[in-house]
Amino acid sequence: MMNYDVIIVGASAAGVTAAITAKYHYPNKKIMVIRKEELVPIPCGIPYTFGIVGAPEKGLIPADEMFKKNNIDTRIGDVIEIDRSASKIRTDNGEEYGYKRLILATGSNPIVPTLSGKDKENVFSIRKDVPYLQKIIDTLQKAKHLCIVGCGFIGVEIAEECRRKRLDLEITIVEMLTHCLQLVYDEEFCIKAESTLKEQNINLLLDEKVESFKGDEFVKGVKLASGRIIDADMVILGIGAVANIDIASKAGLEIGPTKGIQVNRYMQTSDPAIYACGDCAEKVSFFDGKKSPLKLASIATMEARVAGANLFSTNRVNMGVIGVYSTVLGNCAFAAAGLTRSQAVERGFDVVVGESEAVNRHPGCMPDAEMMKVKLIFEAGSQVILGGQVSGAKSGGELINAISACIHQRMTADDIATFQTGTHPALTASPIAYQLVNAAEMAIGKMKMR
Ligand SMILES: Cc1cc2nc3c(=O)[nH]c(=O)nc-3n(C[C@H](O)[C@H](O)[C@H](O)COP(=O)(O)OP(=O)(O)OC[C@H]3O[C@@H](n4cnc5c(N)ncnc54)[C@H](O)[C@@H]3O)c2cc1C
Repeated sequence: MMNYDVIIVGASAAGVTAAITAKYHYPNKKIMVIRKEELVPIPCGIPYTFGIVGAPEKGLIPADEMFKKNNIDTRIGDVIEIDRSASKIRTDNGEEYGYKRLILATGSNPIVPTLSGKDKENVFSIRKDVPYLQKIIDTLQKAKHLCIVGCGFIGVEIAEECRRKRLDLEITIVEMLTHCLQLVYDEEFCIKAESTLKEQNINLLLDEKVESFKGDEFVKGVKLASGRIIDADMVILGIGAVANIDIASKAGLEIGPTKGIQVNRYMQTSDPAIYACGDCAEKVSFFDGKKSPLKLASIATMEARVAGANLFSTNRVNMGVIGVYSTVLGNCAFAAAGLTRSQAVERGFDVVVGESEAVNRHPGCMPDAEMMKVKLIFEAGSQVILGGQVSGAKSGGELINAISACIHQRMTADDIATFQTGTHPALTASPIAYQLVNAAEMAIGKMKMR
């Protein structure tokens, strides 16, 4: 049996980051990463392999390259058991490896609803599995009516990429909530996203719930709770993910309320020699410490950096999930961090909102100039930022990370209104019209009027 100081199970966003972090912090430790599959897709890139990237093989995490560069061993194997008393893991082909510290980065699987007809041919979920993704793309070539269930990030990105690939395909997204992307944006941003999708001839059936999938061996239609049946010879489910906790629960590790592996703020499980990070781990909100169902690569890599650094001495603390998202629909970026206005109100915060919209170059006749809107949400009493949303220019995808940093540092509207922002005519809005700073200033104005 080979023995390692550190073994990591899983080589996607969390596993790779945890391994590299562990090597940075403990360069003399012997580290090994074991993963199930030969080819690991970049999960966030999956929708783009249907369209602009062209094939799943073009959207892979170069895990082996990174491990080699960092002097980390790697194996392919399905870990089926953790023997905690002997500090070893066992794979499906009988191999055993000993560990001093173990990190579980076993990720998540797509949710498949228990609806009648879910097992019919051409009903797909989005699995992080290259041959399976290729099968979806092959089916897409021939389909006439595609129904996507779920109008969150995955649903809208897949819809756009399928449209890019097939201009003649009928595409319908069914969503049980009133708006697309409703869990992440306030209404005005959702409405803008919806019109961007409609411009691309993507049908939206909102406030509609799927009841069952019709057909014989192959799916032919989708029956909605309203009684309506829509034609569909292909269905893609994009309705969320469930933590992969199989080996953890078999080993008797504590499982949390959202069915993730229970961890403390240092990412330790109920066994102090075993850590968990990424989609498989239980999460709490940055804002109130309550359980959070969010599963994002940004969270997975942050948790992996905490877990990897804490293996042999406690260096980092997980402050909880902020939830930072970005996507692009048509030519318009949509990005959000933290709480939306409605989520903040639901949690009982007294909120004040500041908004600012300006062209992202100066003067506005510079090449590539586009409008960008920023909305910031503050807690009125303390003036601390709770969330932000951005739409418009693609640089919004980076600006949201600055907003996330403001949230993480619990900055006040005054801190944001007076911090020094680098600007350049070809790269940003003018320093006078800088959207982030001005949105904070607008909120301060409103707070003063109260
Ligand atoms: C279509 C899609 C688009 C997304 N887009 C975004 C985005 O734009 N931004 C964002 O922040 N997030 C996005 N996400 C979410 C993001 O992909 C996940 O949060 C992220 O993949 C989590 O990484 P992870 O390493 O925790 O888990 P996973 O990516 O699920 O990886 C788990 C790994 O563990 C391995 N494994 C599991 N069990 C075993 C075992 N028993 N033995 C060996 N190996 C095992 C798996 O094979 C895999 O390699 C998207 C997700 C999807 C599906």
